[in-house]
Amino acid sequence: MAQKILVLGGGFAGMYAANQVKRRLGAKADVEVISRDNYFVFQPLLPEVAAGSIAPLHAVSPLRELLRGVFVRKARVESVDFERKIVTVFQGVQRRPTEVPYDHLVVALGQEVDLSRMPGLTDHALTMKTLEDARRLRAHVIERLEHAEITQLPDVKRGALTFTVIGGGFSGIETVGEMKELIDRSLRFYPNVDPGEVRVVVLEFAHRILGEMPEKLADYAHRTLARRGIEIQTGVGVASATGTQLVTTAGEVIDTRTIVATIGNAPSPIVLRLDLPIEKGKIAVDRTMRVTGRDDVWSLGDCAMIPMKDNASARGDFAPPTAQFAVREARQVAENIAASLEGKPLSPFVYASQGALASLGARRGVAEVRGMQFTGFSAWLLWRMYYLAFLPGIATRARVLINWILDGLSPRSVVHLRAETPRDIRHHQYRAGDRVYERGNRADGVYTVIEGALEVRRMNKDGTETTRNIGPGDHFGERILFGETRRGATVRALEDSRVMVIHEEAFLNLAEGFAPLQSYFSDYLRETHGLDWTPSRPGRKNAAQ
Ligand SMILES: Cc1cc2nc3c(=O)[nH]c(=O)nc-3n(C[C@H](O)[C@H](O)[C@H](O)COP(=O)(O)OP(=O)(O)OC[C@H]3O[C@@H](n4cnc5c(N)ncnc54)[C@H](O)[C@@H]3O)c2cc1C
Repeated sequence: MAQKILVLGGGFAGMYAANQVKRRLGAKADVEVISRDNYFVFQPLLPEVAAGSIAPLHAVSPLRELLRGVFVRKARVESVDFERKIVTVFQGVQRRPTEVPYDHLVVALGQEVDLSRMPGLTDHALTMKTLEDARRLRAHVIERLEHAEITQLPDVKRGALTFTVIGGGFSGIETVGEMKELIDRSLRFYPNVDPGEVRVVVLEFAHRILGEMPEKLADYAHRTLARRGIEIQTGVGVASATGTQLVTTAGEVIDTRTIVATIGNAPSPIVLRLDLPIEKGKIAVDRTMRVTGRDDVWSLGDCAMIPMKDNASARGDFAPPTAQFAVREARQVAENIAASLEGKPLSPFVYASQGALASLGARRGVAEVRGMQFTGFSAWLLWRMYYLAFLPGIATRARVLINWILDGLSPRSVVHLRAETPRDIRHHQYRAGDRVYERGNRADGVYTVIEGALEVRRMNKDGTETTRNIGPGDHFGERILFGETRRGATVRALEDSRVMVIHEEAFLNLAEGFAPLQSYFSDYLRETHGLDWTPSRPGRKNAAQ
């Protein structure tokens, strides 16, 4: 009977592993991939998606197209029962728990981003890991340019035109290079923005950028980016962030509306929940990629700690978290699964990096291939050729190539497609003195104070002003519930504070369906404003009489 090989994750490691197992075992294996998305993301191209040189749909490939002969289940992995050899997933619209059995399990769930160690970063930084992240960043940059073009307020313009990227590794440098190209090529459409007003900053905590590359290439990258007006601060990290400012570990306060974090790779919560041995936040495997203590569970890619030598202990003794390695690991894990089914000895994973390439945007790059170093246009061209060849599937390759040709022949589009609807609930960090909102601003939701202290100043109808100080547990901005579209008060932080904003529609839905909340606000609004209130969602009749 065919053996069931179940692969968790449809990224570089999972997708290539599933294909290789099927290719090696054919009808002897029943291969299934479980992935929360039904497409494969080619992450090295994400900075180009963010910069608009490649359309989002063209940087991804449907897993069903890439995985011929493999069953694809779009579902979220929830847990694994290793004794019963069952994976439980949530699938479908109802998110029903479904049990999927296996004979051999391959865990390739990648990593996630955790920015919680730096105050404010989780709430205010954009990340660069998924297709949605790249789309969001492009929309965000265009939105900032639109705002800078029309604002009359110099402070607001400065914040809108200051773009910060945290992390000077591959993804940080490629992201900043591409983002600067997008800005430079878009400025011709924004006559009120002078190129000298744009500030782009990279913060790297180490003493140099591109730590994985030879120093000579990293120096070249540094000089090239600096020449293009990108300010690189090395030995500097982030101390804290708000929606309008970033404070560096060097003490500089940067007014910025754009913080892109390319740092903070962390184990995904599901990997930690699996009850597998964990080493430095990754699944501990032996040199054959078999999970320590389990004969039928394998792990590879970014979520696995794969030793490249016996008694590995230093960082360099383990396989690095790169696509290049994940693809090679996939081949080896497939070979070892086949060997294990046939009762043959397993082989350790052995691979030497073939080099590294980074695009710096604006047709410049750095590359080291088999010991040879390239810089400038030739390195950039090499980068493009390498990744074109590396892309899975002829259709994806053709689409990316066409995108690149069109991008070379035409200006960058500054169409602003809204990347998302407003989040129902979001958190905001404020530093002492920051304005939360001003009288007359558009009202967007109801606020509650989580930490800190704030001052609410309201202008009364008789021209007098009322001031009240509020703290954790208090709320403000509830006048939106009367259908008011503008703020009637000015709120500012008296000390470093954190607030939660519940978007108007989400709040009204919540109040309508959650009786204690409705009853609390009905009483509160009757006492404070003398109004009878019942929740009514926007578009319906006015709620307060
Ligand atoms: C911006 C950027 C640029 C990069 N550039 C390069 C480069 O130039 N060269 C290079 O070699 N490497 C590069 N990398 C690194 C490379 O992309 C990763 O090492 C590689 O993607 C790791 O593959 P993986 O399969 O382990 O993880 P991933 O590709 O992250 O795949 C994880 C998979 O697991 C799925 N998943 C996760 N949780 C669940 C769940 N609960 N249920 C179901 N499915 C789940 C995901 O949907 C995904 O399919 C870059 C990374 C980034 C972010």
